[in-house]
Amino acid sequence: MSTNKSYHELGINTPEPESAEVLKATRRNSILLIILILIALIIAITGIVYVSTHKDRPHHVPHPHDPFAPSDGSNVADVKRNVIAYYESSKFSEHVFSLVSQWSQHFESVKASNGADALPNAVVFDIDETLLNNYPETKRADFAYDAAGWNKWVLEAKAPVIPGTQSFYNELRTRGIKVIMITGRHEAEREATEKNLATFELTHDELILRSPEEDKLTAAVYKAQRRQALSEKYNIVGCIGDQVSDCVGGYTGYIMKLPNYMYFIE
Ligand SMILES: [Mg+2]
Repeated sequence: MSTNKSYHELGINTPEPESAEVLKATRRNSILLIILILIALIIAITGIVYVSTHKDRPHHVPHPHDPFAPSDGSNVADVKRNVIAYYESSKFSEHVFSLVSQWSQHFESVKASNGADALPNAVVFDIDETLLNNYPETKRADFAYDAAGWNKWVLEAKAPVIPGTQSFYNELRTRGIKVIMITGRHEAEREATEKNLATFELTHDELILRSPEEDKLTAAVYKAQRRQALSEKYNIVGCIGDQVSDCVGGYTGYIMKLPNYMYFIE
């Protein structure tokens, strides 16, 4: 009897020898597992760093151009608060007075006319947010345009005056300079407008309101057309308004722009 028997012949179980393919696959799986663990670690660390550096920031503040871009925190509520603070503190009044003092210097040498045969010198004034202050109504309407509320406000004729412009107006009047008022208000509001202006002794040589035919014109076109017509009677030496559209299109003389952080008119 031979003793040289295999394990199999002796009935002893031995593991099957691993093939080269199996060894290769095992190595590949191990590498993949390590890569996955590394990726998970990177994600976890990034998350921890992000949370710790962003914990005091608002979750999401929309940006006007890119809703996901970082924001300085401004939103419409902040803007309204700033506008209210501007108009309800002394800032608005101081701002107007500082502008007016520059304009007064310009008009120091301007007389009632440039000679005996010359047309009288005149300055064109806008009314709303130039001489009269509609901030109370605009705030009531939460800074939106409420046509019914606005019309009611105009007819009540209780808008306060803007002191800086009033003082500039008085200065021009003292120099004998004519005052032309051109407003976007409608002809139907003439009586109420006259009443409101009279409260502050804001007399005028001309008061121009929109006729029904001018209703569809932009403020800029309507006002420029009226100034052109008036230039036959007056030498227009200045134009003052709170909107750019108050004094574009010629026949303006020296242009003076007041602030308006409430609304914009074309
Ligand atoms: Mg105006």
